[in-house]
Amino acid sequence: RLEIRNLMRQFDGRMVVNDVSLTVMPGQVTCLLGPSGCGKSTTLRMIAGVDMQDSGEIYVDGSLVCDTVFRIPPERRSVGLMFQDFALFPHLSVAENVAFGLSGSKEEKRARVEELLSRVNLLRFIDEYPHNLSGGEQQRVALARALAPRPRIMLMDEPFSGLDNRLRDEIRDSTLEVLKSEGSAVLLVTHEPEEAMRMADEIALMRDGKIVQQGAPYNIYNSPVDLNAAQFFSDVN
Ligand code: ATP
Ligand code: MG
Repeated sequence: RLEIRNLMRQFDGRMVVNDVSLTVMPGQVTCLLGPSGCGKSTTLRMIAGVDMQDSGEIYVDGSLVCDTVFRIPPERRSVGLMFQDFALFPHLSVAENVAFGLSGSKEEKRARVEELLSRVNLLRFIDEYPHNLSGGEQQRVALARALAPRPRIMLMDEPFSGLDNRLRDEIRDSTLEVLKSEGSAVLLVTHEPEEAMRMADEIALMRDGKIVQQGAPYNIYNSPVDLNAAQFFSDVN
């Protein structure tokens, strides 16, 4: 379970993340949805621990991970990351890429790698190198790699934006299936309402650093908080 409370971050005197609070339950996908520049990636970076908030707290499964005086480093936060340009290591095989963040015996690692690759339907590529895979296949390897250490929290920042339209729908669905089966709490950042409608259990609508509305996708779609939110959703059908 991920909880963030009253997160604040400013750059050069400008408030970029302004009092953001959220809870994401295990096995649930929450979409942080909003237009470019509203502060989505900054929020994610603070949760990952690669940026530090000015104030507010972050908890993972009820334990404090970071506030203004206490800070657990990124690698010990049980957080998996997936970004649009989160490239695979080109000199490592698919198996080695997925095993990269794993500890344990060789056999244990191999078993986990095989489990994940079969879940993303790529077991046949286990000994291939990334350049022999299509973009969508590489994306699925990156997902397997991020999930391999069983992160409690999965943070995804526009992970599908490099894919063409037809492939994107397919990958969204298969990604969702794998995320659900792993049971991490997922925070997915997107600026596309359609993606949030398709993938989210809950949407947090963000604007100018603030969460302006939060709820189930169809509630937000059917009862937007204001004209601006209604316009933002108007292209979804
Ligand atoms: P997009 O959808 O385009 O990715 P976003 O919602 O992820 O947008 P952020 O990357 O969080 O937006 O940026 C929010 C604002 O904070 C932007 O105006 C950006 O210029 C500013 N910003 C982000 N990081 C820094 C930084 N390190 N220094 C100064 N300003 C920054
Ligand atoms: Mg961003």
